[in-house]
Amino acid sequence: MIVSMSPRATEEDVNQVIKTIRENDYLPHVRKTRFNIVIGATGPQTNPRELESLRRSPGVAGVQSTTQPFLLASRELKSTPSIVHVGKVAIGNATAIIIAGPCSVESRDQLLTTAHAVKAAGASMLRGGAYKPRTSPYDFQGLGLDALKLLAEARDETGLPVVTEVISTADVDVVAQYADMLQIGARNMQNFALLRCVAATEKPVLLKRGPSASIKEWLLAAEYLLAGGNQNVVLCERGIKTFETDLRNTLDLAAVARVKELSHLPVIVDPSHATGRRSLVPSASRAALAVGANGLMIEVHPNPTAALSDGPQSLDLQDFASLMASFDLPAWHVGDTHNTLTESDQPEAGDLI
Ligand code: PEP
Ligand code: MN
Repeated sequence: MIVSMSPRATEEDVNQVIKTIRENDYLPHVRKTRFNIVIGATGPQTNPRELESLRRSPGVAGVQSTTQPFLLASRELKSTPSIVHVGKVAIGNATAIIIAGPCSVESRDQLLTTAHAVKAAGASMLRGGAYKPRTSPYDFQGLGLDALKLLAEARDETGLPVVTEVISTADVDVVAQYADMLQIGARNMQNFALLRCVAATEKPVLLKRGPSASIKEWLLAAEYLLAGGNQNVVLCERGIKTFETDLRNTLDLAAVARVKELSHLPVIVDPSHATGRRSLVPSASRAALAVGANGLMIEVHPNPTAALSDGPQSLDLQDFASLMASFDLPAWHVGDTHNTLTESDQPEAGDLI
């Protein structure tokens, strides 16, 4: 339920609405828009009957039922797109951002070589797995803390903010200590304990869509992060399981467009895991940008055939540079500048307070 206050509502009116919401065991979420204050109420029901009396409360302009169960992630509570800041990189504005790097951090040389190359090609952020969620327990599981330290070194050398996956609640603190953005992988999208734990950090979060998750389930996972107090959530479509077996996953581009209709959160696309084939990464990338994705996350390795994970879907350094050159992206993507904050990217007055 969403309560819209009149532009003439007093502080006392607003406080009374908040009090009534709390007295009925719902949680108030106050937003200042350019015109007025809107207050969302979350609780066991989307449209609590107990709060009907608010329609007659002083200063209330209207009370609106919500159509979706993910109130905080929805455009119903916040109609303007959210912009998530990772260091100096802004995700969610009109300019797509490119995150690139190896599937797994394998060595200092592999990571630093890749980091310098993707930066030179115009990437805005560096990725690299330290803790790897592998299907087989016998496959490379990641270098853990050593990889986190290498990622921090690569960030210090290149200036590229770093995103890396956290797979366990036990690792959240240490990953948050080294990384600029925490990735929740597809397999953990509905690990609610992990979502709660990551929500409690102040780090931006990259929430991948589960391989078999519906759009609603994906946005409800995002709602866990938002309700847990972390507003810096970016969604990532990475392909879903279908009857198709030739491709690793099926890239659901309509979901990207649909999620942008339903939610104010930025959405990026991972064409590497979505296809599983490096030959398809360029076309899947272009399609993702065409459908309105706010960015891409692409796996890049100096020698993909020798990669310890996901070699078949990784671009080599040259192919990544060629792909970047083919994008119609603004000049800041090329060379050693970032997607630097501009005044219009600053959090708007309408952000949750
Ligand atoms: C990854 O980004 O390396 C990864 C494991 O992705 P996903 O969770 O989408 O499979
Ligand atoms: Mn991978």
